[in-house]
Amino acid sequence: MFENIGGKIKSLAKVICWIGIIASIIGAIAIWAAGDRWNPTFLPGLLTLVVGCLGSWLGSFFTYGLGELIESTQQNAYTNTQILEHLRKNGESGKSSSKSDPSPAPTPSYFSRPHTTSSGTTSGWRCKQCDTLNAATSLYCKDCGTSR
Ligand SMILES: [Zn+2]
Repeated sequence: MFENIGGKIKSLAKVICWIGIIASIIGAIAIWAAGDRWNPTFLPGLLTLVVGCLGSWLGSFFTYGLGELIESTQQNAYTNTQILEHLRKNGESGKSSSKSDPSPAPTPSYFSRPHTTSSGTTSGWRCKQCDTLNAATSLYCKDCGTSR
C-alpha cells in the first residue's frame, strides 16, 4: 500500500493540478454566467481562470518535486545496495580464488572492519586521511570527505 510513494505523490500532484485547473474553469464559467450587461464579470472570471490554473500548476511543482525527490532517493538507496552487493561478491570471489586456504574467506576489510575504540565498543571507522572517527553507516569521512 505504501510502496512507490514517490510515484504516488507524483500522480497525486498531477491529479490535484488538473482538479485545480478544472475547478478554475468551472469557477470562471460560473462567474461569467452570473454577470450581465450592467454587471460585467468578464475580467473577474478571467482572473479566476488564470490565477486558478497558474496556482494549481505552480502548486503541483512542489508536490511533484517531493515525489521526484523520494523516487530518486529510493533509487539511490537501491543502487547503493546493488553496488555494495557487487563489491562484496567481487571481494569474496577474488579472495577465495587467489588462496587455497580452506578457512572461510574473510569478507573484505572494507566491510568487516569496525574499528574498536579504547572503550572496546565498535563505533565506526577511522578516516585514512585525517583519522577522524566516522559512523559505521557513513561511506565518506564527515571531516574531509574521503571515502572509507
Ligand atoms: Zn577524513
